[in-house]
Amino acid sequence: VVVRGEGVWLHDAEGRAYLDAYNNVPLVGHCHPRVVEALARQAALLNTHTRYLHEGVLEYAERLLSLLPAELDRVMFTCTGSEANELALRVARARTGHEGVIVTRHAYHGNTSALALLSPSYPNPEPRAGWVEAIPAPDSYRVAGERSGEEACASCLREVDEAIERLARRGIHVAALLLDTGLTSDGMVRAPPGFVAGAVERVRRAGGVFIADEVQVGLGRVGTHWWAFEAQGVVPDIVTMGKPLGNGHPLGAVVTTPEIAARFANGMEYFNTFGGNPVSCAIGREVLAVMEREGLRERARETGAYLTDRLRDLGGRHPAVGDVRGTGLFLGVELVEDRDTRAPAGRVAAYVANRMRDAGVLVSTDGPHHNVLKIKPPLCFDRRDADQLAATMDRVLGETAAQ
Ligand code: PMP
Repeated sequence: VVVRGEGVWLHDAEGRAYLDAYNNVPLVGHCHPRVVEALARQAALLNTHTRYLHEGVLEYAERLLSLLPAELDRVMFTCTGSEANELALRVARARTGHEGVIVTRHAYHGNTSALALLSPSYPNPEPRAGWVEAIPAPDSYRVAGERSGEEACASCLREVDEAIERLARRGIHVAALLLDTGLTSDGMVRAPPGFVAGAVERVRRAGGVFIADEVQVGLGRVGTHWWAFEAQGVVPDIVTMGKPLGNGHPLGAVVTTPEIAARFANGMEYFNTFGGNPVSCAIGREVLAVMEREGLRERARETGAYLTDRLRDLGGRHPAVGDVRGTGLFLGVELVEDRDTRAPAGRVAAYVANRMRDAGVLVSTDGPHHNVLKIKPPLCFDRRDADQLAATMDRVLGETAAQ
């Protein structure tokens, strides 16, 4: 039972403190005083909706768009990542006149009826829809095996071609490739270089668009860039955002090009009672201001590189560590039973996550086999925190060997 948060720390009802390396939503830290103050100030002044004009929504829109490639110059606000993906789907279909959507085999994109069909990671998958095709996650470590990067990329791209063909055989054209650019629930896997750009090219050739779901990974977490798609060498047609935008307050967004937005603004109504309200926008603006003032993107890059080294050191001592991957403060540690067969060690991963919690450090597990330890702390996480996390993981991995 958690009762209080501050920076990278959570405190439970019994007064125990936990180093939080799990929660990516409080991007700039739990209960950041400046964000709390911006919320309170605006809530005391005015909170309405976007049927009234308000400077706050314009300022936030401009500030957010300034972090994206110039082509992506229109934004619509939502309250959640699910709403953002749902809206993106409508926009993609309005733009293309097509229906089909390609996702990865263990993707999670949200909680609405349509997104449940597009989220094969649900434990009890909904009935399949004819307009959905899933491709295996482009996993350099597992799917691609020992093949060269180029071969691996070609084999993953064949899956995209085949998905487009399978849709076509059912008389359905592809409207969108919808990818979580962090491939989070697929196990935070690393796509072979060139895969995303190649997949997008194929989908565009078939008349579809690319929706980059940056709900998990976006807004500076990867450190090198503001958005994960930038490292993949593509400019998406549509970008969806959520979780970190409001540091815990419900705030999401859909960003697209003027051309695509114009097709959608052609009589198709979008109104969201709470999306883009003055309080949400004041919070969103302050999150961006804190990111800048505290240099948190840069810190994510530096601390992430340091933590990656510490985690790779663990690989030298613990054979269960099969792969350490990710960038910035979006890191995955894949645990395996055997480094040669790469058999997933889901049971060990559950043990490690639970024992680390007992020792006061929060991480979680993800991936189809639940064997990837997922590390995505607030970006104010520092080197000392990284040392504590690595030392705790080291100790707990030691226990698993002794079992
Ligand atoms: N996309 C991704 C990649 C997500 O991780 C999530 C949430 N886990 C969503 C969309 C849905 O966001 P929300 O829970 O805010 O609706």
